[in-house]
Amino acid sequence: MSSIRLNANENPYNTVNKKNLVEDIEFFEFNRYPDANYTALRKAISDISRVPFEQILATNGSDELIQLLILAFSNPNDTILALEPTFSEYKKIASYLQRDYIGLEPNENLSLNKETLLKAIDKYSPKIIFLCTPNNPTGEVLEQNFIKSVLENTDSIIALDEAYIEFSSGDNLNLLNAYDNLVIMRTLSKAYGLASLRVGYGLSNENLIESLNNCRMPYNISGISAYIATKAIKSIDVKKYKKLLINEKNRILKKFKTLGIDYLESSSNFVLFKLENVNPLYNRLVNQDIFIRKFKEKKLKNYLRFSIGTEEENTKFIKIVEEVMTNANN
Ligand code: PMP
Repeated sequence: MSSIRLNANENPYNTVNKKNLVEDIEFFEFNRYPDANYTALRKAISDISRVPFEQILATNGSDELIQLLILAFSNPNDTILALEPTFSEYKKIASYLQRDYIGLEPNENLSLNKETLLKAIDKYSPKIIFLCTPNNPTGEVLEQNFIKSVLENTDSIIALDEAYIEFSSGDNLNLLNAYDNLVIMRTLSKAYGLASLRVGYGLSNENLIESLNNCRMPYNISGISAYIATKAIKSIDVKKYKKLLINEKNRILKKFKTLGIDYLESSSNFVLFKLENVNPLYNRLVNQDIFIRKFKEKKLKNYLRFSIGTEEENTKFIKIVEEVMTNANN
């Protein structure tokens, strides 16, 4: 029995037609470096995002883009700001590059404390502000009016992480040409189901894209990944996966409601939920080879996060949750 991985917010389905790729591999020139500008890949990304390819930077996952943003737009000891709890790599990468990372504390129910951000901008003059929508791990969406108010009240770079945007409704592409301090971060790792290829991308104006491009390593994406991504993305029906996964999410949450489990409403393919003690459920799941996400941060110590799997995986997950919760209540 293979393990069930509900801990990394991936698309649980295989989205790629592998048969076509096998034929192509025969002609693939493994002895050649990839196109240094990734023109074909950026054109394919332009087709799915409707952003001109000059305004696109392709990166080795959006993880690499986080690092490039920090390298391009800040120096050691500069401040990087984010609303917590959020994606842990902002802090991790900022810290190893010796930037000062400040995470603003959430409200008691873990909703993002947006009211504190403008004051913090005045106080800390951050070089970069990471905003994540839908936010990992809470699933909260940041309203566009809030994002606009931040963009208008600072010259800091606003790195808007839309890794999970395909699972929610709407996006913020309309802001790209209206503000010159906005970089939108996207990835093929989530809804597109291509996490293994390591392809992410940044969308911005040509100036900021050039600054980011100056910091990247030549050939930052492997040729084979760029090739497969270019070929695959146009044929991936993201809306189909969104529908499937949201239906499954609703099925799981219906069960959570009947079991009296406290969870955060999520606009993404993962859900954060609260237990008095997370260990009995977490350990029982691990025992059954089912992996969900546990957190080290103190404010998340009573929370677990699961991503939505296939119908079969979710059914197994729900069964264990039900077992453990029923035992706990008896
Ligand atoms: N941003 C967010 C909010 C994420 O959750 C993740 C992956 N967990 C990433 C960026 C990085 O994704 P990737 O490097 O695979 O594009």
